[in-house]
Amino acid sequence: MTFTLPQLPYDKAALEPHISAQTLEFHHGKHHNAYVTKANELVKGTPLEGLPLEKALIEAHKQGGAAFNNIGQIYNHNLFWKSMTPNGGGVAPAPLADKINEAFGSFDKFKEQFVAGGMGQFGSGWVWLVSDKGKLEIVKTANAETPLTEGKTPLLVCDVWEHAYYLDYQNRRADFLKVFIEKLANWTFAAEAYKA
Ligand code: MN
Repeated sequence: MTFTLPQLPYDKAALEPHISAQTLEFHHGKHHNAYVTKANELVKGTPLEGLPLEKALIEAHKQGGAAFNNIGQIYNHNLFWKSMTPNGGGVAPAPLADKINEAFGSFDKFKEQFVAGGMGQFGSGWVWLVSDKGKLEIVKTANAETPLTEGKTPLLVCDVWEHAYYLDYQNRRADFLKVFIEKLANWTFAAEAYKA
């Protein structure tokens, strides 16, 4: 198998009451798992077979199509699970917090812009905090697109596909985004990614 489904970094019920165990059961166990299964089928017998995930992603992006869509979704979901932690939220550790204040005006302004970014993604996609060679930006991507293919380093990502929030929040994407940034964001992970 070229790609595998990683275990969640926490128990399925660990993000309650913000994200239910049922949502994680479907989102990780069904949706993410389906991308892994499909991507493995699609790369079988192609030059992508056996490549590490990030390399396969970059190569698949040059062709586009179903292989990229499924590989991109594996990569994006892997980062999404790591972008959350029970008792997350709060502010980023220094020096990342200083960089955020510098880039967005204040930590509160950053949070507002992150939520606005997620709301501004029409249809399915993702909202990201990325580092572009040290410069912080909020970017949104559609479907399975990822800032990695633009040479940017993802620090934090929120899934805004409806399957990410519909069971818990129905159509209230803004509420989900606010909970993500206020209660779940894993700043330890983001700070490590920023250093790397
Ligand atoms: Mn998803």
